[in-house]
Amino acid sequence: MKDTYTYTIGNNLYLNLTNRCSNRCAFCVRDQSARYEGYALWLGGGEPTAEQVVAEIGDPKRYEEIVFCGYGEPTYRLDAVVEICRYVHERGGRTRMNTNGHGNAINGRNIAPELKGMLDGVNVSLNAPDAEKYDALCRPLIKNAFGEVLSFARALKESGVPCWFSVVDCIGREQVEACRKIADTVGIPLRVREMIEAR
Ligand code: SF4
Repeated sequence: MKDTYTYTIGNNLYLNLTNRCSNRCAFCVRDQSARYEGYALWLGGGEPTAEQVVAEIGDPKRYEEIVFCGYGEPTYRLDAVVEICRYVHERGGRTRMNTNGHGNAINGRNIAPELKGMLDGVNVSLNAPDAEKYDALCRPLIKNAFGEVLSFARALKESGVPCWFSVVDCIGREQVEACRKIADTVGIPLRVREMIEAR
């Protein structure tokens, strides 16, 4: 079966550039099923090139948003992300990225300035209000992962990239409110998402 590089949910087109991730979240849909929304998102044949993805996007105005998502962390494919964003914007489309916020650690530099004008929105998964809870829930493979998430969000804000934090509602109201305080200190909004079940 052909690997799934792009898939639609609602009015959006989602891009699956990589299965690599610097977290092993307890709630990750990758661990619940090889399929998500009926799509097989494990890239058995390797990661797609920007050209392969662009060929599948076609006219981006057919979609509300073109979303860099996964089964994986899109900032591992920074060059492809930038190239695809250029293509989408040249044709009047909109872009968003869902990220775990480790992009600077993964790339070894501050990538936020490179994302300015490329992404119309960045959803940074905050997931927890402190490092201890974050490590327990997200089981990161990098050091200082929670600190990386906060500093990445600050860097996005400083570079003028529209961004917000998200948390999954299953962590409970108390922790959600603690996350809201963290978001306030960074100065960006917090969005609360419903837990996604694999199907
Ligand atoms: S950051 Fe996303 S892709 Fe990575 S393990 Fe967590 S939920 Fe899964």
